[in-house]
Amino acid sequence: MQDLTKEILELIRRTSTDLPADVEAKLRTAYTDEEDGSAAQGALDTILKNVDLARSNSTPICQDTGTPLFYVHYPEGLSTRKIKKQIVDAVTEATKLNYLRPNSVNAVTGANTGDNSGDDHYPTIHFEEVDENLPLTIELMLKGGGCENVGAQYKLPNVEMHAGRDLAGVRKVVLDAVQKAQGKGCAPGILGIAVGGDRGASYLASKETLLTKIGAENPDAELDALENQLTEEINQMGIGPMGFGGKTTVLDTKIKGLHRVPASYFVSVSYMCWAYRRRKMTVSGAEVSYD
Ligand code: SF4
Repeated sequence: MQDLTKEILELIRRTSTDLPADVEAKLRTAYTDEEDGSAAQGALDTILKNVDLARSNSTPICQDTGTPLFYVHYPEGLSTRKIKKQIVDAVTEATKLNYLRPNSVNAVTGANTGDNSGDDHYPTIHFEEVDENLPLTIELMLKGGGCENVGAQYKLPNVEMHAGRDLAGVRKVVLDAVQKAQGKGCAPGILGIAVGGDRGASYLASKETLLTKIGAENPDAELDALENQLTEEINQMGIGPMGFGGKTTVLDTKIKGLHRVPASYFVSVSYMCWAYRRRKMTVSGAEVSYD
């Protein structure tokens, strides 16, 4: 297979320095919606100026460049071992070029590897084989530590919250997660929610929902309605951008339903900050395109 290290490095540069158009457009709408001269509008103004500066200077949008999460969809026959090496090499090079902050710290000793290399799970790379006639696609999400810290997982039923094993119960625990996060996790955020699965699959799926664009319609009409309801209700909480108060606490909500064993009913909430950095590269023959 061809060596894609340079192209993956470009994917990392774009992800770290150039906020996707749908996210920026939503932040601009939020700026207009907030009251003139309010702290909320001031916070959004600073965020938007920062987005412009990062793009024009090719520097990271935020000092925390997050955990690199790669999602590789590879056509049958490609070597995942080779793709993994190219990704790790590109991540190391991106750290040297300051597109990424050295973020990989040994959990036991506290030592930083200095180049974003780490154990088998860092950087995190998920592989999925697709038909041999489909192109190779690599998606990257940079997930900030602050927003990861306010993610939560609930086991239903939850007696204290009167949350049962249904979508009404899901709504209650999601509202609880956002209420507890307040401005931490750098609001306005985007919520990725998974209902069902085991604990691990549930968290994985909650992050995967964040790969879709803002405003994308959920194919499940019931979940789509709940997404819209949650976004509306959360934005009435008054937490606002960076917790300064205001109308914009979340930009969007995304929910995925999974199968589960009868004994368990998990709800996982992955909170993504306003620095919603996700990009995709597609390799068709010698041609590489970015989205
Ligand atoms: S949560 Fe997001 S915006 Fe806040 S510091 Fe971390 S990466 Fe930056």
